[in-house]
Amino acid sequence: MHSVEGLRGQPTQKPPYPTEKGLFGKPTVLNNVGTLAEVPLAIYYEDYNPNLRLHCLSGNVTKPGVYELQLGTKLGDLMALGKPKHKIKAVYFGCFGGCMPYNPELKISPEDVCGKDCILGACTVIAVDEKHSIVNVATNIAKFYEFESCGKCTPCREGTMRVLALLENISMGKATRKDLDTLQELSEVIKETSLCGLGQSATNHILTALKYFRKEFEEKVK
Ligand code: SF4
Repeated sequence: MHSVEGLRGQPTQKPPYPTEKGLFGKPTVLNNVGTLAEVPLAIYYEDYNPNLRLHCLSGNVTKPGVYELQLGTKLGDLMALGKPKHKIKAVYFGCFGGCMPYNPELKISPEDVCGKDCILGACTVIAVDEKHSIVNVATNIAKFYEFESCGKCTPCREGTMRVLALLENISMGKATRKDLDTLQELSEVIKETSLCGLGQSATNHILTALKYFRKEFEEKVK
């Protein structure tokens, strides 16, 4: 909305929500493209199936791609389509959704995924096999957030830089155990205090990686 108005594309404090005061101060409906794309299908087809979703599979698989599957498909069935070369140890639900140990029986549905500290979001699955380090994956995702932070609020602007620096030190074996505690604490603060969804989800991947794969971090610190 701000870009359309000729302003910097930064979020504002809510309320008021766009439905009350949006573009040029008028009530505005904002939906993501996926939602809008479904509307004509829902109107046109009598047998419209709202549970069909595009699942984006990437990471350590030989056949990455976008697969159209029912919501609730087992993770193992999606992974079989991706034909991984090595044993999968973890999955990330995109950069936003956090990570968890790979469980082929887990259903890809908001209820099943959210119960495990993750967020399903847009059915994006990034596979990580046992040949790859979770610390390196976390560092790569942290680079994305550091770049994408719009800089408006302090926790996200400064915090995404600091967690990236900590993760880089951990990856290079230059960090101490105290740095791991700082990483955990800082990640929690960024999540709790950032202004918009980007900052609030910027450290999901770190917090879940520390929860499920802490040993990999500990092995890298002095
Ligand atoms: S959380 Fe990050 S992206 Fe969102 S307003 Fe704050 S600095 Fe900008």
